[in-house]
Amino acid sequence: AKMVYYFGQTKTEGKGKAKALLGGKGLNLAEMTSIGLPVPPGFTITTEVCDGYYKNGEKLPAGLMDEIQKAVVTLEEELDKKFGDDDNPLLVSVRSGAAVSMPGMMNTILNLGLNDVSTEGLAKATKNERFAYDAYRRLINMYGDVVKGLAHHDFEVAFDKVKKKYKVTEDTEVPAEGLKELCEAYKAVYKKGTGEDFPQDPVFQLQLAVEAVFGSWNADRAISYRRIESAKGNTEIGNLIGTAVNVQAMVYGNMGDDSGTGVGFTRDPNTGQNKFYGEFLINAQGEDVVAGIRTPSPVSEMGKWDKAAHKELMEIKKTLETHYKEMQDIEFTIEKGKLFMLQTRTGKRNGIAAVKIACDMVKEGLITEKDAVLRVPASDLTHCLLPSFKPTARNAADVLCRGLNASPGAAVGKLAFTAHDARERFELGENVILVRRETSPEDVEGMSAAVGILTSTGGATSHAAVVARGWGKCCVAGASDVEINEKAKTIVVNGRKFTAKDTISLDGTTGEVMAGEVETQEPKLSGDFAKLMVWADKYRTMGIRTNADSPADAKRARAFGAEGIGLCRTEHMFFEADRIIHIRAMILADAEDDRRAALKKLLPFQRKDFEGIFKAMAGCPVTVRLLDPPLHEFLPHEAAAQKEMAAELGVKPAEIKKRSEALHESNPMLGHRGCRLSVTYPEILEMQVQAIVEASINCAKKKIDAQPEIMIPLVGTAAELRILREKVEETIAKTVAAKKFEGKLNILIGTMIEIPRACLTANEVAEYADFFSFGTNDLTQMTFGYSRDDVGGFLPDYIEHKIVPVDPFQSLDQTGVGQLVDMGVAKGRSVKGKLKVGICGEHGGDPASIDFCNRAGLDYVSCSPFRVPIARLAAAQAAL
Ligand code: PEP
Ligand code: MG
Repeated sequence: AKMVYYFGQTKTEGKGKAKALLGGKGLNLAEMTSIGLPVPPGFTITTEVCDGYYKNGEKLPAGLMDEIQKAVVTLEEELDKKFGDDDNPLLVSVRSGAAVSMPGMMNTILNLGLNDVSTEGLAKATKNERFAYDAYRRLINMYGDVVKGLAHHDFEVAFDKVKKKYKVTEDTEVPAEGLKELCEAYKAVYKKGTGEDFPQDPVFQLQLAVEAVFGSWNADRAISYRRIESAKGNTEIGNLIGTAVNVQAMVYGNMGDDSGTGVGFTRDPNTGQNKFYGEFLINAQGEDVVAGIRTPSPVSEMGKWDKAAHKELMEIKKTLETHYKEMQDIEFTIEKGKLFMLQTRTGKRNGIAAVKIACDMVKEGLITEKDAVLRVPASDLTHCLLPSFKPTARNAADVLCRGLNASPGAAVGKLAFTAHDARERFELGENVILVRRETSPEDVEGMSAAVGILTSTGGATSHAAVVARGWGKCCVAGASDVEINEKAKTIVVNGRKFTAKDTISLDGTTGEVMAGEVETQEPKLSGDFAKLMVWADKYRTMGIRTNADSPADAKRARAFGAEGIGLCRTEHMFFEADRIIHIRAMILADAEDDRRAALKKLLPFQRKDFEGIFKAMAGCPVTVRLLDPPLHEFLPHEAAAQKEMAAELGVKPAEIKKRSEALHESNPMLGHRGCRLSVTYPEILEMQVQAIVEASINCAKKKIDAQPEIMIPLVGTAAELRILREKVEETIAKTVAAKKFEGKLNILIGTMIEIPRACLTANEVAEYADFFSFGTNDLTQMTFGYSRDDVGGFLPDYIEHKIVPVDPFQSLDQTGVGQLVDMGVAKGRSVKGKLKVGICGEHGGDPASIDFCNRAGLDYVSCSPFRVPIARLAAAQAAL
C-alpha cells in the first residue's frame, strides 16, 4: 500500500482520503491545500505505517525511506530548496497526527534539516544570523527531548547561563553571538546525554524523528489519555491503529517583528459566541504559544500590528467554516507579513458552546436542525447542567485574584499540588483543586481526578485550558498572582497564604479565584439548550423516563424532560430514621402476625411517598418496584449499633446478633432478594401493593392522574411471576373493595428482566407480564459473573489489558449482554406483540447504550434525573 501522501502545488494526493489513514492533521492539510488556502507543502506518512511499525517489532517497514526520499525530492523541486543544502536549506517540521486529536499528547520537531553547515547557509539566505542559530538551538533541544528523551531542564540551565553572560532576561534579547554559543552548549548537552554527536545528516534526522513520533504513540501519557477518554465512552479513540506523521516545509514566525505565530478558534470555545477567539505572539515559533512561556496577545488586537494579515485571517475563518460547516481550531504563522495555515481541525468546545454553535449555525444556514442534533455530543450536555455560584454568595465572596476563564463551571475543593496527590486524595473521596504553575501531559491523571484546575501561567490555549475544556472541567489558567510553592505545598496570593488543608472556590466562567467555600447553584435550562431539546424530542422515537424514588427527584427529572418514572426503588424509602425501625422490627419478628403488625406501621409512610411521587409525575407512568435488596442490608452489623437498635426495640442485643447472623449469606446478591422475598414473605408485597393502590385512590379523589405500574424484581422463572402476579391482583382487588372505590384504576403489572434465565425464557415470562424492564445492572453482573460491588479490584486491569473495552457496568456490553436483551425482546414480543419494554439499569443514561436500546426496539430508557437531557439527545441521535 501507498505509505506517503504528498500535499502542495505539485499535487495533493490525500484529498478526500480517510481520516483513519492520514490522521486528522494530515487530511486537513490536504483539504486546506485543495481549497486554495496558503499551506506550506509537505507530505503525510500514514497511520498504517505506524501500525506496521509496531507489528514489525518497532522497525520502519521496508521501502518507506525510499517513498519518503521521493516526496522530499518533490518538495525540493516545488520550493526550489534542497534538504541539507549549504546555501539555502529546506527545513521541515515533523508532527504526529492521529485520527482523533489528542492535545499535547504527541511530539513535534521543528527546523529539521539544520546542521552546523546548513545553519550558516540559512543565516546567509535569510541575512539573519540570529534567526538561523535560534532555529538550530530549537532543533537540538526538541530533537534531544523528543527523539532521545533528554531532560528539558539541562537545556534550560545552559540557556540561563548564556542569558546571564549577556545580562538579559528574555530569550529574544540574546544576540546572535550568544545563540551561536548556545548551539555549542546544546550540542554538548546532547552529547553528554546520549554519548553521540548531534546528527548532521538531515535524512538520518528525518528517519529518527519519524520513528520517535511512532514511538510517542505508546508513551505512558498517550496511553493514559486514551484510557481516560475510552473510559468516558470515546470508543473511536480505542479503535485507532496509530498516528500518522506529517512532514511539512517550515515557515518562520520568528524572523523578526514582522513575523509571528498564533492559534485560535473560529468561534469562542467557552461561550460559543461567533467571534474569532485566539492568541498570537510576535517573533515566535508555534510551540511558544502553547507552552505558555510568554503571554500572548488576543487576536482581536492583531490588526494593530498587521492589518492585512488580520484581515486575511478573518477571511480564512469564513472560508474554513463554509467548507467544513464546523467551528475550527487553527494554527497559523506569519512569515515576514505573509500568512500561512499550519493546521485546522474541528475545535473542541464545552457543551454550552457546542449547543450555541449548533443553534447559531442552523440560524446561519450552514447546517440543518438534524445536523445540530447529531453534532452536540450527548454526554457534553452535562456542561449545560453544570452548577454555578449563587449570585448572593458570589457577591459576598472573598475574591483573591483573577486569572483567565479557561473552562467554565464552579469548583470548590482543597488544594492539591501534584497530579499524584490529587489522584490519591480523590480516591479517598476528597474534592480537590489541582494547582500547578502550568500543566503538562504528565498531569492528566491528576487533572481528571480534580474538581477544578488552577494554573499561574499560560493562556487560554495552554495545555491545562485545552484539556479541561475537553472534559468540561472548571479551569482558571494564568492566574499570575498565585505564587505556588510546590515543595512547601502552599500558595501565596497577594500576601495571603493557603495550604493543602484550605478550601478555595474557582469560577471558570469569570476566572475568579475565591477563598473558602462559595455556595453553588443549579443551572438554568432555557435558550439554545431548550431549543436543541425541542429538536431532539422531534426526532427521537424512544421515550425517556427517570429513575427516582422521591417527589423532589421526580420533579427535577420532569423539569429535565422525563416522561415518567422507569424505576422507583422502594427500599430507598425505608432507610429514613422514622421508618427503618419498623422494617427492623419486621425482620426481627418470628411470626407472620408480628411481621404484619410492623408492616402496618410502614404502610402510611409508603402511601404518602407514593402519593407524592404520583403527584409529581401526574399524567405519566410511574414504575414502582417491590422490595429488592436482601434483608440483612437493613440490619446494623456493628456491635454498638446493634446495641442501640436493641434498646430502641426493647429486645436483647444477642437477639439482633443472632438474626443478623442467620441472615448472613455468602453471595447475598445471588441470595434471598428480589421476588424471592415476596415468595417467602408475601405480607411485604401485600403492604407495598396496598400502599400503591391506596395512594392511587387518594390521587383519583383529588383528580390527580396517577399511572402506577407495579414491577416485580429478579424474576428468573415464569412461575415466580405467575404466583406473585396473582398475589398482586388479589391485593389490588381487596384494597379497592375495602376502600369502596368505584372509579377505575389502571395498574399494570410487569417484571424486571435482569437474570439471564428470564431472557432465555422470556416467552414464558411474558405470559404474566404487562411490561418488561431490563435491569441491566444485574443482567451484566450475572452474565459476566462479575460482582457489581467488587469489580474495583480487577476491572481497571481488565480495561488496561483490553480484556473489556470499557466498564460494562457503565456502557452496555452489546456483544454479550446485548444478545440477551435482543433475545428477551424478541421472545417476549413473540407472545405479546406490543409488549412494552424499557431499560432501567445505569446504561439507560449512556449514549452508546441508548443507541443500542434504540436498535433493540425498546420503548423507553430510564436514567438518573441529571442524565435525562443527555438521554433525550442520545435517543434522537440514535433515531437519526
Ligand atoms: C438493575 O439491576 O439493573 C436495576 C436497575 O436494579 P438495581 O440496580 O436496583 O439492582
Ligand atoms: Mg437489579
